[in-house]
Amino acid sequence: MECRAGRRNHRTRVSGIMIDLATQLPRLLPKAIAWAQTEAASARTQGEPLTVTESRLAHLVGVRYPEQVRVVERSTLPYPADPELNVAARETGLLGPGMLGLTLGHAVFILSGHRTHRLMSHECRHVYQYERAGSIAAFLPLYLRQIVAYGYEQAPFEVDARSHEIDIVQCKDQCG
Ligand SMILES: [Zn+2]
Repeated sequence: MECRAGRRNHRTRVSGIMIDLATQLPRLLPKAIAWAQTEAASARTQGEPLTVTESRLAHLVGVRYPEQVRVVERSTLPYPADPELNVAARETGLLGPGMLGLTLGHAVFILSGHRTHRLMSHECRHVYQYERAGSIAAFLPLYLRQIVAYGYEQAPFEVDARSHEIDIVQCKDQCG
């Protein structure tokens, strides 16, 4: 869902969180989905379309509808106002310091100054994952269950997004 400046190893503190979140996730999921849907809706009016190169990147990583993607570049990324969601997001490392981007459906939020091809390809791969799942409501439970089960770094959706990162040199070759 997001990309970080540096890789962090959550293994030492994941086990305690897993138990807590695994218990609370079913209750938190509806609130998390509602929050993500609201943020995605606001991005539809505030955001801008992908650039031509970013659209090619999106296509390369499998996005079916690049024209629906909206990018919001700003100094802070969305945080849930709900106290429980906020704590859960921070404790899992989902929305912590060092977070550079966040994708919610076709909405891609990027921290100002970090709109690189590499980060955009990572976030666009998450767009692809949302498209495959069908909706925010369908994707988020799958994604968050992975975070609980594997930890952020090892969650299969994150591993997949990292494996589809394309840097600018590669893009020059592949984006034509
Ligand atoms: Zn990610």
